Amino acid sequence: MKIHEYQAKEFFKKYGIPVPKEKVCFSLDEIISTAKEIGLPCVIKAQVMVGGRGKAGGIKVAKTEEEVKTYGSQILGMDIKGLKVKKVLVSEAVDIASEAYLGIIIDRNEKKIVLMACKEGGVEIEEVARQKPEAIYKVYADPLLGLLEHKAREIGLFLYGNTKNAFDCAAIALQLYRLFIENDASLAEINPLVVNSSGNLIALDAKINFDDNALYRHPEIEAMRDRESEDENELLAREKDLSYVKLNGNIGCVVNGAGLAMATMDLVKHYGGEPANFLDIGGSSSPEKVKNALEILLRDRNVKVIFFNIFGGITRCDDVALGILEAKKVLDIKQPIVARLTGTNEDKAREILKEAGLIFAKTMDEGASKAIELLKQL
Ligand code: GDP
Ligand code: MN
Repeated sequence: MKIHEYQAKEFFKKYGIPVPKEKVCFSLDEIISTAKEIGLPCVIKAQVMVGGRGKAGGIKVAKTEEEVKTYGSQILGMDIKGLKVKKVLVSEAVDIASEAYLGIIIDRNEKKIVLMACKEGGVEIEEVARQKPEAIYKVYADPLLGLLEHKAREIGLFLYGNTKNAFDCAAIALQLYRLFIENDASLAEINPLVVNSSGNLIALDAKINFDDNALYRHPEIEAMRDRESEDENELLAREKDLSYVKLNGNIGCVVNGAGLAMATMDLVKHYGGEPANFLDIGGSSSPEKVKNALEILLRDRNVKVIFFNIFGGITRCDDVALGILEAKKVLDIKQPIVARLTGTNEDKAREILKEAGLIFAKTMDEGASKAIELLKQL
């Protein structure tokens, strides 16, 4: 789950990470009065959950009251990468001496939490990682002992040539790590972390993502969810108790179990196709759930072929078959459906789907390659 910059900054404050004086505003009047409170110049920042707001014109420094009005009305309601700006952050302008990057993510290859720093801040870190990976300095947290102080200092000393900034940075890194752990984050990022004209460190931007599977432990974080900023299909799927992640391909996959769903996507790729989604209908799927799954999947207009890969255990193949029939009745499904249904009640399922015009496959290899073949014929 993602949150807005202004929400992430609240976390920073709670953990003693310095942020500029600022307030989120919902209307132009509020922007004008907040700018008066905070003082000029101030920065007006669009609150949308995408990077590169600056480049898109969503961040402006206002030096006069007139500019506050102009930029405020420009940014409020602006469209940034398909998202409408409904809130803006009015922030004290900081005199920037230098910008750096500091972030924490999970390194899946190392199976550890990694703290990353880069002397070039404010730019997209993914871009740096691609073009100049050597510019990124990494230290790992110990899985048992956590982020050790000397490791945090190592990062501080990498970024800054003076001990004051280096040690302040180490303190920020340790707090960022605590925030990450205590809130089950999957990413916590300060980009840029700046040194201001008085030589102090300030987090100018904040980004935190949370692990969806741990949200049940944090109702207060769940409550911060901004429904308007999320992918509508993923939201709908969550309501229907399905795990759905939209991808960019055109083969819609319907699978039971997360592991099989991953394997199915791998296989589609292996045979030269592109999955349109990850979709796990779960262990005990009712016909209703299968119908819901198809409904969500078909909202994605890129889906050209549907591939069912069901390994019937607790999930019964006949239930899935009934769900497919039900869906065919209520939804206008034009895409061909390849089905590999194996395990519990598979014969019954085949019987139920006899007249439904599906293409059956015995193995998942066969299913994946058939789906790709069909795609080529379209
Ligand atoms: P992003 O583009 O969405 O990542 O938004 P950021 O909050 O990171 O801001 C982008 C850039 O705007 C920063 O790297 C700074 O260069 C600039 N910026 C943001 N706030 C201030 C400020 O208070 N003063 C100055 N001088 N520049 C700022
Ligand atoms: Mn940024």
